[in-house]
Amino acid sequence: MLNLDFHPTGRHFLQIPGPSPVPDRILRAMSLPTIDHRGPEFGALGRELLGKVGKIFKTDKPVIIYPASGTGAWEAALANTLSPGEQVLMFETGHFASLWHRLALRLGLEPEFLGLPGAEGWRHGVQADMIEARLKQDTEQRIKAVCVVHNETSTGVTSDIAAVRRAIDAAGHPALLLVDTISGLASADYRHDEWGVDVTISGSQKGLMLPPGISFNAISDKALAASRESRLPKSFWAWDEILEANQGGYWPYTPNTNLLYGLNEAIDMLLDEGMDNVLARHQRWAAGVRAAVNAWGLEIQCQDPEVYSPVLTGVVMPEGVDADAVRKLIYERFDLSLGTGLGKAKGRMFRIGHLGDCNDLTLMATLAGCEMGLKLSGVSLAGSGVEAAMAYFSENPAPHVARPARD
Ligand SMILES: *Cc1c(COP(=O)(O)O)cnc(C)c1O
Repeated sequence: MLNLDFHPTGRHFLQIPGPSPVPDRILRAMSLPTIDHRGPEFGALGRELLGKVGKIFKTDKPVIIYPASGTGAWEAALANTLSPGEQVLMFETGHFASLWHRLALRLGLEPEFLGLPGAEGWRHGVQADMIEARLKQDTEQRIKAVCVVHNETSTGVTSDIAAVRRAIDAAGHPALLLVDTISGLASADYRHDEWGVDVTISGSQKGLMLPPGISFNAISDKALAASRESRLPKSFWAWDEILEANQGGYWPYTPNTNLLYGLNEAIDMLLDEGMDNVLARHQRWAAGVRAAVNAWGLEIQCQDPEVYSPVLTGVVMPEGVDADAVRKLIYERFDLSLGTGLGKAKGRMFRIGHLGDCNDLTLMATLAGCEMGLKLSGVSLAGSGVEAAMAYFSENPAPHVARPARD
């Protein structure tokens, strides 16, 4: 049970790959009074938000904002574009891809789950050539959508979405492309328009540095056209009524006002920094964390360096070590939360998040917590990951200085 009387000194280190640490600037923005969601002030906020949120997705097309977790936006993407019994092609990259597959089944779709054999699928990204080959076989074009996860949060592996687009085009297939970038957006490179994605699904509590409770569908013209034919039941998720209300900056129901203040602030923070700088910052953190894991002599879950996640790193435990026992010890001794192994990776690995309100020193503290915990758990380490990460961060300064010089 949550002990609300427990007030340890200092800050808890929330290094799970979402929810991520929320910057104070965003928490303060969210503490403003809740206003009338039908009033003029709200309409102005809504119009401003809807006018700029697309910059984060790199799209000029509409972005639907739901007061829901990412799972809701998964359902919305399918329910708005498809009809009962239709075939969709999904790719098994890990636990989140598996959950989305289960959701499609429960909605009454016929998902086909493509993947690499055995445990390999959970250590690599989407294989675009397998998608191309499968679509080429589908001469009757019964597959209506291809669904992939951009940043597989359960493993720390990204996927090449542009390559999936090219595969669909090379097969000459009209299937829609639906992409989950719930944990990739605003941490890993993402381009809705350029990559020809039809529905992009995202959420608030990962790269956007917000608390949980907002999710998104960015939609293409083709997806919008599909939504007019789609026959899966939907009401709360239906795009048409939301798009209509959005014209004035409103929603058909009560939106989560204070989270939208936070979203407004988050978008400003990201755009002020510049999306390229935001991405470079996460790449650099990820490289520092990997330097530590390599120095420990432990395995990284992702086996393809081309698609290492800038968002999180999965650390595989040696045979016989229970990753959850290590995590528990680190949590209890050092007030540091790490991500658990999910699904097929349960007990085999833990995950270090490097997203949200972090900096070099929060990551150094995180790695110190890991190193102490690994040693206390009896894991024999090849060397000091902390020293390796210190060397990496010292020798590779951030492209822009952390703080302007004092006179
Ligand atoms: C977090 C996450 C989800 C689930 O989102 P919820 O907000 O927990 O519903 C789905 N997919 C990916 C890739 C995620 O990281």
